[in-house]
Amino acid sequence: MSDTATNSQSESQDKPLNFLQQIIKKDLQDGKHAKIVTRFPPEPNGYLHIGHAKSICLNFGLAQEVGGECNLRFDDTNPAKEDQEYVDAIKADVSWLGFEWAGDVRYASEYFDQFYQWAIYLIEQGKAYVCHLSADETREYRGWATKPGKPSPQRDNGVAENLADFEKMRAGEFEEGACTLRAKIDMASSNMSMRDPMLYRIRKQSHHQTGNKWCIYPTYDFAHGQEDAIEGVTHSICTLEFADHRPLYEWFTENLPVPSVPRQYEFSRLELNYSVTSKRKLKQLVDEGHVDGWNDPRMPTISGMRRRGYTPASLRNFCEMIGVTKSASTIDVGQLEFCVRDDLNNTAPRAMCVLDPVKVVVINYADADQGDLMTQPVHPNIEAMGRRELPFTQELYIDRADFTEDTTLSRKKFKRLVLGEYVRLRGAYVMKAEEAIKDADGKITEIRVSLVPGTVGENPPEGMKPRGVIHWVSATDSIDCEVRLYDRLFSDEAPDAGDKNFLDAINPESLTILSGCKAEKSLLNAVAEKSYQFEREGYFCLDSKLATADKLVFNRAIGLKDNWANKK
Ligand code: ATP
Ligand code: MG
Repeated sequence: MSDTATNSQSESQDKPLNFLQQIIKKDLQDGKHAKIVTRFPPEPNGYLHIGHAKSICLNFGLAQEVGGECNLRFDDTNPAKEDQEYVDAIKADVSWLGFEWAGDVRYASEYFDQFYQWAIYLIEQGKAYVCHLSADETREYRGWATKPGKPSPQRDNGVAENLADFEKMRAGEFEEGACTLRAKIDMASSNMSMRDPMLYRIRKQSHHQTGNKWCIYPTYDFAHGQEDAIEGVTHSICTLEFADHRPLYEWFTENLPVPSVPRQYEFSRLELNYSVTSKRKLKQLVDEGHVDGWNDPRMPTISGMRRRGYTPASLRNFCEMIGVTKSASTIDVGQLEFCVRDDLNNTAPRAMCVLDPVKVVVINYADADQGDLMTQPVHPNIEAMGRRELPFTQELYIDRADFTEDTTLSRKKFKRLVLGEYVRLRGAYVMKAEEAIKDADGKITEIRVSLVPGTVGENPPEGMKPRGVIHWVSATDSIDCEVRLYDRLFSDEAPDAGDKNFLDAINPESLTILSGCKAEKSLLNAVAEKSYQFEREGYFCLDSKLATADKLVFNRAIGLKDNWANKK
């Protein structure tokens, strides 16, 4: 566990224990387990999203709090949808969040030989059989909640025949879909998962870990609990939709000679408004080109949030804040944004960047101290972060929105530069707007100002009242950059609720590209993914994909305004 992850966990020690912490505490007190082992078990069929972040923080956090261990295990039982690219991305995301898995990364596929032996064991015990029904027939035979299922014609086949059929399945002698191996449990069970669930299916597909060794693959149900048992997982934590599978999970550990008996516990999935948290839907956004890859800064993926400038601590704090329960609820994305803003406010270096520059000419520049070099703290509350230099020159840029010729606006309403009035440039002089120069279309091309000598770090003389403080950069000693502003990817609060097509809810204005922005030179040191506070504008980081040595591209992670806290 990294230092940062440890800190964020320990801050929460005074909070009441959630239901899983209570269970773990009791199991340790009762001596049921000497050591707690949990696991995070992603299927490598896509990149991780914010919901997975919750599961990661939960599983790693629960183990860490009590000196236990958490495994990272790929649940790679379906080669059709899986890929090494996803394996690599998932490992990177877990590490970036600040967690260390116990030992090596594990793969369900490492246990395929064992699963195969256990399948044979169940056949030998008369508890599994090879079924030759098609997928449609199987569905029909299963019945439904109020109607018991019908037995498969092969349900009572003998052990020898089943062993021979299963061997043929393994040897590739049947076509895909021709048969499956099923557990023989109870076709009349009120729990549909217990109606002779499938254990193995034929998939004539190469696997990213095992190559062409297998053409039969275990199902999630047959694999998952046994993976837990092999690894000595004590608490197997999954989302609520698996509650119905728990009796089956327990049936396997009771009917197989497993080396340990894990217990399954369920908690509610994280759902965020204005987002989708389904790998399948996120993959569709990527495949159909609605976004710039899995790590598009608008995506609710861990890699997207990372590229956008969110910090690991902010995601961990968010997961801590929303807590763990057994009741489904949708969380306001504003809570996530609150956590991001809160963390960045405490840590991000400050800088000035003018997003929509208009030129300012200081007509009495000669009255400035010669060779003026202003300095400002890198962070207002952290002296150790040092100071940054801001060259003050005759020509400057301010933001177009920070100037108006409208002298009727109240001081309260417009705390910026008004023609004929005063404003302070952050960390520099108080200025008076003397004249606005316009082009033939009436657009302001230049603002002429006069500086008030002696006002750097000092109050102006009595009677001169600046309306406010605005940001600026030197026109001749600054750098050009592109800035990308992001809005929510979906304009609908619940883009995939009911039978809605989430693609219809894509916000056409979720990306705004501003070119020709002007930034202070300290931003030449910017490193990808590390956010700065651009004063008065928000938090921005260099884009890890689009920025080059010749072209700086900054992403806005989040604005400065705290809408969520205001709403409370
Ligand atoms: P998706 O529906 O996005 O494909 P999944 O559940 O199929 O998600 P897995 O790779 O199987 O994805 O998930 C790994 C772990 O993350 C599982 O233990 C799962 O319960 C958990 N998880 C997935 N989505 C969420 C979520 N929205 N909230 C909390 N935990 C989640
Ligand atoms: Mg899954």
